[in-house]
Amino acid sequence: MSSLRLILLVAALMLAASGAAVAQSPLTALARLQTGDSAIIDSRDGRVSITLTLSQPVPWRAFTLDAPRRLVLDFSEVVWPPEFASQSAQIPQVRTGVLQPGWSRMVLDLATHLKIETASLETNREDGRAVLKLRLGPQDAETFAETTGAPPNPVFAQLPPSSVPSPPQPRGPQDPLHVMLDPGHGGIDPGAEVGPINEADLMLTFARELRELLLRSGGFEVSLTRQEDVFVPLETRITLARAAGAHVMISLHADALAEEAGNASGATVYLLSDAASDRASQRLAERHDQSDLLAGVDLSGQSDEIALVLMDLARTETEPRSQALAGALVQGISAEVGRMNSRPLRRAGFSVLKAPDIPSVLIELGFLSSPRDRERLTSPEWRMNMASGIRDALRRWSRDDLIRAGQIRN
Ligand SMILES: [Zn+2]
Repeated sequence: MSSLRLILLVAALMLAASGAAVAQSPLTALARLQTGDSAIIDSRDGRVSITLTLSQPVPWRAFTLDAPRRLVLDFSEVVWPPEFASQSAQIPQVRTGVLQPGWSRMVLDLATHLKIETASLETNREDGRAVLKLRLGPQDAETFAETTGAPPNPVFAQLPPSSVPSPPQPRGPQDPLHVMLDPGHGGIDPGAEVGPINEADLMLTFARELRELLLRSGGFEVSLTRQEDVFVPLETRITLARAAGAHVMISLHADALAEEAGNASGATVYLLSDAASDRASQRLAERHDQSDLLAGVDLSGQSDEIALVLMDLARTETEPRSQALAGALVQGISAEVGRMNSRPLRRAGFSVLKAPDIPSVLIELGFLSSPRDRERLTSPEWRMNMASGIRDALRRWSRDDLIRAGQIRN
């Protein structure tokens, strides 16, 4: 299974998450291909090396097509230079143009059968430019023919280029806060199971109760990443949040920590980090990612690649807002349900928290491995208190966030 057959990266349009950023880099400023720092050349080992320097990072994807043999690179709007030639004998011709409104395409003719061996886009923090690097290597004709084609990826299927949502608009003081609730697991992935209780069902129940409460309280709009017991890949959950125009995303879990932390209990709020704040957190993150693999979704390499593309610029804006949200949640929850976990705020590399432009947190409401937590989690009264704590936190954060964005005065 050639996971490199298609390297597909959708980062959505994530620059300018705030009003300030919009002022500095207007959205009309499209990415430009900088020919002086771009080249397509043969390397000594028979491979082809492609370097394309863009004035700013954009979502992109790469794949090959057969009959005639081509490499296709799609970008979210790049302004092409009048002339850009290949120096590689294996790529005799390069054509560029508009694929359809919003998407630009570069087509590279292949003289021989070549496959994409590596592909990455990296953003330079200093000058904001992005460099796309691809390495192509030889492949036999049969495998090439079998593995070409536009990526059948759910992200592109759900978001045809013409409907890729604009970057989140700054929220006005009168706008309701749009909350994406993400009940963990589902379908063939039940999550933690203890006796008759399973995490997937319990989180769906809680997500519905929380939605009810938020809608009744007013000032909120609420979406769910799943409405029933179905499997939803982690990346798709982020895509759904963006497509819905959510202002925040809250993933809901109640895992079991069997091994080293069997006595873990109490609610915990997680923020994204590259390095887990402790081993138990790391295990949790790995287990969640593992569920996706079990479900037959090949994410190999994708998460890393996406992490590269996911714009550092947007993340710089979003990270402090996620932090503020997590802090408000710890406060709101402990005010309503009392004692939380001994370390109620932790960090781990949960894939579902990787939206660069939407403040995201993951709440472990409790641990199904703890008898005390189990009792609480299965009590409708306790869950109502938990929901109230989350609502209060969202209200406070929402107001603080508007003040921070200069939308209202303190
Ligand atoms: Zn879970």
